[in-house]
Amino acid sequence: MSYPNDSTYFCNRECEYFPCHELEGEYFNCLFCYCPLYALGRDCGGNYSYTAQGIKDCSACRLPHKKGGYAFVQSRIVELIRQVAKKDETQSARQEKEGEVL
Ligand code: SF4
Repeated sequence: MSYPNDSTYFCNRECEYFPCHELEGEYFNCLFCYCPLYALGRDCGGNYSYTAQGIKDCSACRLPHKKGGYAFVQSRIVELIRQVAKKDETQSARQEKEGEVL
């Protein structure tokens, strides 16, 4: 079975790293090759671990590539947007208080 390339899915079987993860079946979504949820740290909802040096390791996570991954990333990216907006708000308030000109 093949899957049509669209705004929620594409698969680049010509990639020099394909398949970067082992998945059963034909479905393999390359859309989130670099997972946008990485920035959420421990809140991403994926199957991560941390190395002894404190680096987040996503090598065991299949979420962005498997069926349902697109919807999962979309559902969690709202949290990332919320956190960035909150950080921006806090930074703007601090700069305003300190009289900084942007
Ligand atoms: S690949 Fe998986 S573990 Fe890594 S950030 Fe994305 S969802 Fe989290």
